[in-house]
Amino acid sequence: MARTNISHDESKIASEALRTLIPGWVLAAVAGSIAMFILWLFNREMPLAQTLVLVGYDVTISFGAYLINRAGRPMFAGHFFVTGVVLLCAAITLIFGGFTGSMAVVYLLPILLAGIVIGIRSAFVTAGLVTLVYLAMIQVELSGFLASYRIEANQVITIVAFVLFFFLTAFLSWYAASRLHLAFRKVSDYAAELQTSNEKLQASEEELRAANEELEASNEELRATEEELRASNEELAAANEELKDAQEKVVRTEKLAAIGQLAGGVGHELRNPLGAIKNAVYYIRGKLEKSELAQKEPRVMEFLGIADEEITSSNKIISDLLNFSRVGKPATSPARIETVINDAIAHTVIQENIAVNKTLPGDLPEIQIDTDLIRQVLVNLFTNAVQAMPEGGSLTVGAHRNGEFMEVAVADSGTGIKPENMKRLFDPLFTTKAKGIGLGLAVCKSIIDRHKGRIEVTSQIGKGTIFSIKLPLINA
Ligand code: ADP
Repeated sequence: MARTNISHDESKIASEALRTLIPGWVLAAVAGSIAMFILWLFNREMPLAQTLVLVGYDVTISFGAYLINRAGRPMFAGHFFVTGVVLLCAAITLIFGGFTGSMAVVYLLPILLAGIVIGIRSAFVTAGLVTLVYLAMIQVELSGFLASYRIEANQVITIVAFVLFFFLTAFLSWYAASRLHLAFRKVSDYAAELQTSNEKLQASEEELRAANEELEASNEELRATEEELRASNEELAAANEELKDAQEKVVRTEKLAAIGQLAGGVGHELRNPLGAIKNAVYYIRGKLEKSELAQKEPRVMEFLGIADEEITSSNKIISDLLNFSRVGKPATSPARIETVINDAIAHTVIQENIAVNKTLPGDLPEIQIDTDLIRQVLVNLFTNAVQAMPEGGSLTVGAHRNGEFMEVAVADSGTGIKPENMKRLFDPLFTTKAKGIGLGLAVCKSIIDRHKGRIEVTSQIGKGTIFSIKLPLINA
């Protein structure tokens, strides 16, 4: 495992070293050739052509090593490069001064390079290879196989010194490379540690995110439950409202029944005596009209008139009471609504400052109604309208067919009804008038209900009120 790591590290170092070193190396070679060209300009004996060949060769091996490294084989690229450079050094030594010449120091370069680009042990191997090539070149030079500028034999001390230098350089290269390797390992260890902590951090971030998502989900659930709760609460409130309405209806029905019973009884008991009083007044008026007393005391006749009026209004109250108490099906017969309307107008006291408008189309169909009762309804509505216009105004009554219904609308330009009173209008005994008894609209509703019809109201304060009645054309 450790070995694999080391060789893995070495290939990484080698790859990195080759990548950064080769461009500089090639640049140095090109600079060397330019320098040689300048020298050659001054001294045409300088070996310019050979130098250019060597630079070409150097660039080629550098490029080759670069490509092999890029192909992912850094160790092979390193060996290729170092071997190429050893051969280059051999050629340089041959051309520039031979094995004892100062140029022989170039042999140190591949040893240094090997330490850097191949690995910490290869510096020694390269030192051995360089020694072999160096010795072989000595043989080549001594044999005179290649022409040289200055060939001197038997300089054993120089040769030994060079070989020693080779190994010393190998040692220094090994030492530097091993330090570098150590530093690299430390850096990689730190990097690995960093990577682990980063991974841990990412994992906890992931956990946090998951926890957050769970929280959000439960939050969503909570919100949904809250929504459901609110909805059921609203349903409950609605049911409560309905219950309250139903309870109110029951109470009202009971109240109505009780009032109805009482009203019916009282009305019935009062009707006959009142009839007798009316007859008596009529009789007295008849007798007194042309008498002396009437001439002398005109107030007697006046009071008799008042008594007659009050009897009429009491009669109306009594018929309201009786109508209100009446239950069961009305006695219907085919009738013309315009006749009933006209009849009701004639039965209503309408002061002169009120204009009466009628919109009654000629082709209205007959309807099945109890004419007495419907007339009573209209008289009540007209009376209310008139009372709502003490300063005068207009009373409009119209009828038209609306599907299976006959719709009659009674509109006035009177005071209007306060919104808070709208719900209580049809309640028995609800009145806003000083002399009112609050039975008119309750009677209207009870009569219309018994005809299986509907009565509705719209009103605007200061502008007027419209009561509209819908009666089925055929009363089943
Ligand atoms: P009453 O006439 O004895 O008061 P009603 O049942 O006929 O009893 O009317 C109840 C109340 O409805 C009246 O006191 C009045 O406040 C209101 N109302 C009825 N019709 C009208 C109308 N056309 N314009 C304004 N208010 C009206």
